[in-house]
Amino acid sequence: MKIAVINSGSSSIKFQLFYMPGAKVLANVLVEKIGEGSSQITFKYDDKKNIISAVIKDHHEGLKKIISLLRELSILKELSVVDAIGHRVVHGGEKFHSAVLINEDVIKEIENLIPLAPLHNAANLEGILVARKKAPLVKQIAVFDTAFHFHMPKEAYLYALPYEMYEKHKIRRYGFHGTSHAFVLKQTALELKKDVKELNIITLHLGNGASACAIEKGISIDTSMGFTPLEGLVMGTRSGDVDPAILIYMQRVLGLSVDEVDAVLNKKSGLLGICGENDVRTIIDSDDEKAKLALNIMIRRIKKYIGSYMALLGSVDAIVFSGGIGENSSYIREKVLENLPCGIKMDKFANEANATFISNPKSEIKFLVIKTDEELEIAQECLKFIKS
Ligand code: ADP
Repeated sequence: MKIAVINSGSSSIKFQLFYMPGAKVLANVLVEKIGEGSSQITFKYDDKKNIISAVIKDHHEGLKKIISLLRELSILKELSVVDAIGHRVVHGGEKFHSAVLINEDVIKEIENLIPLAPLHNAANLEGILVARKKAPLVKQIAVFDTAFHFHMPKEAYLYALPYEMYEKHKIRRYGFHGTSHAFVLKQTALELKKDVKELNIITLHLGNGASACAIEKGISIDTSMGFTPLEGLVMGTRSGDVDPAILIYMQRVLGLSVDEVDAVLNKKSGLLGICGENDVRTIIDSDDEKAKLALNIMIRRIKKYIGSYMALLGSVDAIVFSGGIGENSSYIREKVLENLPCGIKMDKFANEANATFISNPKSEIKFLVIKTDEELEIAQECLKFIKS
């Protein structure tokens, strides 16, 4: 059967077509710069890759273009012939603890959650509406980034703010990257030949956006991203944790507007803010002092989260790296794991080879590198709805 996965961003659509079971990727299309004059379309199929330009004024045209490309390549006649369409939805709030079949009520709820994730949920919803128009009879499923963290205990998700901030305004930790952490957990269980419910692990999703997750017996009990995807680790352009009083200072003393503070924290901070560059490959290769400093700040923050999650979990079966940095940078992994307590050691050769197991075979805690695949996780969630 064929399952389409749509990840609709504010100016982009990522589209993947899977043949399931077996998870064969039939096509992978990325439409970027929607509504910005000339859009770029990258499509991959059968080990081939093509990039073309086109004028795509909105998401409706974007999806139409994707389908016409797939038709020309004889990969898919119409969107309406797929067995299910899975949509990435960033924010599920306190409502959605698992993937759901999309109906009018779900659409309303996703819309209600827009204030909590203005850029993301609005764009995700746009993708859903466009796909429903194109394929009204196909089952469409919403898979939420927050859902995996739904069962965090209250002491993990509540901030020490006046309680009414939570009760009235829903200000709490939600956590993100849940689809990735869930996928990595399942793969780790396969590698360790254990049931997910037996596993205590720390997962590190280290990409441009980055988050850590403490998983106890298969359940997320804490995660570094919070009310928004800004909290926690140092990211490409996001600051991660800062003293909240700095934001007040920026406004009161430096005279920055709310929007300017927002831009500083989300777009001008992190690695970019410290050394002027956010691509970790370039930063690692640089001799610049600030580049070294940026990496050290990022690495130190990851170590602090690992330490605190080890303290929370008590016993840890594995520490797992994923995301562009986690999967590819032996240097970052080595530095992150340096000096861990209890004689836990890494296997340098395995690490340099980006092997799946990078811990010394004698190490009680295993270190793993797992390639995450959020789209495949979404497709697998869809399968549950087709079978039932
Ligand atoms: P996104 O969060 O946008 O999905 P990715 O998971 O693709 O991001 O990760 C992007 C990051 O991965 C970039 O900082 C990039 O420099 C880094 N990266 C990719 N390959 C390597 C590598 N071989 N060594 C170090 N960093 C890498």
